[in-house]
Amino acid sequence: MKVAVYPGSFDPITNGHLDIIKRAANVFDEVIVVVLLNPQKKGLFSVEERLELIKRVLKFNQNIKIECYNGLLVDFMKEKGAKVIIKGLRAMSDFEYEFQMALMNNKLDPDVETVFMMTRAEYSYLSSSSVKQVAVFGGCIKGLVPDEIISDILKKSQSSK
Ligand code: ADP
Repeated sequence: MKVAVYPGSFDPITNGHLDIIKRAANVFDEVIVVVLLNPQKKGLFSVEERLELIKRVLKFNQNIKIECYNGLLVDFMKEKGAKVIIKGLRAMSDFEYEFQMALMNNKLDPDVETVFMMTRAEYSYLSSSSVKQVAVFGGCIKGLVPDEIISDILKKSQSSK
């Protein structure tokens, strides 16, 4: 069985992430979405809250699993017997960072491959941080994130002001 892992901070999950997850689930037998703890980034949502939002929007997908992990991605992959990391690419600005990460992960575990998927044009400007910047001032985030989590994001962003 070909298992792929899609890592990120997902603070919160956006339609850009969801598009990559669904496309990856068409290519691989199973996709594990993993919320990785980044000690350098203080999030808007706690990891438990992010997991709950992701589960809410992906609940009907049989071959997509959702987990969190506090540690190195390559160690998580070993635990799961997965060899493929999925990454989404937006602008050229993503490339340099992702290139470095892919080489580092390959150095840590030479069996691991990173597979890149291009964003859909309509999501190429979309990031979790841009959603939060709009939400904090009560702007419209419809179409950027799934409808069922819009009110959670607006409420949380505005209470963090
Ligand atoms: P963000 O950059 O939105 O904060 P994450 O740190 O959670 O996102 O990133 C997780 C993965 O999702 C990365 O591979 C990132 O490049 C990808 N990604 C984020 N937004 C999009 C998008 N709009 N389209 C395609 N891929 C995306």
